[in-house]
Amino acid sequence: MSAYALELKNVRKSFGKSEIIRGANLAVPKGERFAIIGPNGAGKSTLFNLISGRFPVSSGEILLNGRSILGLKPFEINRNGLSRSFQITNIFHRLSVYENLRCAVLWSLGYKYSFWHRLGGLKDAHARAEAVLEQIGLKSRRNIAAGLLTYAEQRALEIGITIAGGADVILLDEPTAGMSRSESDAAVELIRKVTVGKTLLMVEHDMSVVFGLADKIAVVVYGEVIACDTPERVRGNPKVQEAYLGGHATAEA
Ligand code: ADP
Ligand code: MG
Repeated sequence: MSAYALELKNVRKSFGKSEIIRGANLAVPKGERFAIIGPNGAGKSTLFNLISGRFPVSSGEILLNGRSILGLKPFEINRNGLSRSFQITNIFHRLSVYENLRCAVLWSLGYKYSFWHRLGGLKDAHARAEAVLEQIGLKSRRNIAAGLLTYAEQRALEIGITIAGGADVILLDEPTAGMSRSESDAAVELIRKVTVGKTLLMVEHDMSVVFGLADKIAVVVYGEVIACDTPERVRGNPKVQEAYLGGHATAEA
């Protein structure tokens, strides 16, 4: 078994003539929490789209738990234990909080259970949805239409949807975007709790979230991972300070 949950080896991606990902390398050990930081347009969300199978790579290799996932469809990668959230919320606003979670569970179970096992699958899905409700602290809101939740609650539900299928590699794209300080503090605690024992990759702009949660920070600049190290060492890295943590970071924060 590989010690790495995820490995990117010289990954490149072009859209038309513009090369957006320009030889990205990254190795994420199992059970670690990684923050991905970098200026807007650096290619962070594109990396997530490549890892989750939404776009094919132009060249290079991506390994999940030591096995290549190139050419797999997003649901197949999900079935192999990787789940991602989106920078734009993907919640069904008219469904209840509970139904949103049950849909997410069924969606991931749907590929594991044959038709004849569905009945068992439905019971599992109910129990699993209830467990996630509890974990994300929305039990008292279970029957409310998701569209009526507060913004912070919707983001918590989004995290619940991402973990509902039981994936052990979780990708979150800017989970605290648009939150107040206290909301993002609560989100950090939630993310910490639901990712215990899992591998996390999280795109994040808020440096207090990054430094509060990440075991390692990967710095993406212009389609390359220019540094990947502990928060303290990344903070002290002159290359990073020059390329990112200097003027750019403060302009964006
Ligand atoms: P980040 O998440 O780091 O802010 P993105 O990965 O969203 O950056 O975008 C990186 C660059 O790739 C941007 O210039 C963006 O316009 C371009 N890009 C992203 N997705 C596509 C696409 N589907 N087609 C063409 N260009 C894209
Ligand atoms: Mg992005």
